[in-house]
Amino acid sequence: MKTNPTSRVYRRRFITSSIIATTGVCLMPRRLFAAAESPVVTIRNAAATAKITVAKLRGNVSVLEGSGGNIAVLTGSDGKLLVDAGIPGTRARIMEALASLSDDPVKHLINTHWHFDHTDGNEWLHSIGAEITAHENTRKHLATTTRVEDWNFTFPPVPAGALPTKILTADQALHLNGSTLALKYYGPAHTDGDISIEFTDANILHVADTFWNGHYPFIDYSTGGSIDGMIRATEANVARVTDKTIVIPGHGPIGNKSQLTEFRDMLVAIREKVAALKKQGKSRGEVVAAKPTAEYDAKWGGFVINGDFFTKLIYAGV
Ligand SMILES: [Zn+2]
Repeated sequence: MKTNPTSRVYRRRFITSSIIATTGVCLMPRRLFAAAESPVVTIRNAAATAKITVAKLRGNVSVLEGSGGNIAVLTGSDGKLLVDAGIPGTRARIMEALASLSDDPVKHLINTHWHFDHTDGNEWLHSIGAEITAHENTRKHLATTTRVEDWNFTFPPVPAGALPTKILTADQALHLNGSTLALKYYGPAHTDGDISIEFTDANILHVADTFWNGHYPFIDYSTGGSIDGMIRATEANVARVTDKTIVIPGHGPIGNKSQLTEFRDMLVAIREKVAALKKQGKSRGEVVAAKPTAEYDAKWGGFVINGDFFTKLIYAGV
């Protein structure tokens, strides 16, 4: 994903946002601040030219990368099932990619959580026949006006056709296309509506945005996410997979148990550092200036969230 234009634009915009946050509005020319575009707008626009790649994983499970979060696809005679919906700017290329896998129509869509880069495609996928499943908190956020301060964006309620109609209130198993799917709620983690989807027979686990493979993750405090929730979810992921499990992260390349473990270790280590600095009475700015992520930035800080921004996300939760 590092090479696709969406990622580059997204990263640049986030860096700009952090510069504004760090230097303060008063130092910025008023016009420039007013013109600063939300990353949501940037990503939605960039989707028009984003490239979609298709990879067959195992059994009848594939993954589409390049339109927002990673999209898992289960093919078969019960109709295609998609995990996450991508961004409509890539609709034509998603259709091509889906057609390259099989002729089965799209019948089922599961949202791992409410974020736009996983649900913007809900409406068009529903219009071609997909029934949408999600956790009740995901439906709640999609149905109401939701402000995400860290993205400088307010999401209006989605159109009726984009709302999930099959609501997950407890863990659930689905039997489709000769496969068993286990849907499991994390509890508050990256948001308060994250669910994992396990393709049991193929030993593939889609872990939603509780795992960004090779990148610092975003944590959405505005809808119930927190660093401690992220760590709990990651511990659960590590405990649940084996060396043979294929792990589909929300963002980043397809992963495995050792990458998941490394991600967990990174979250825990930086959380401890930031918590220790905060306990000394340091302000958010002082903690950011102390660069608690320094030794991790080269590996994890090259995508949407840089070390300073990640430090702020952790500071908010310790
Ligand atoms: Zn997300």
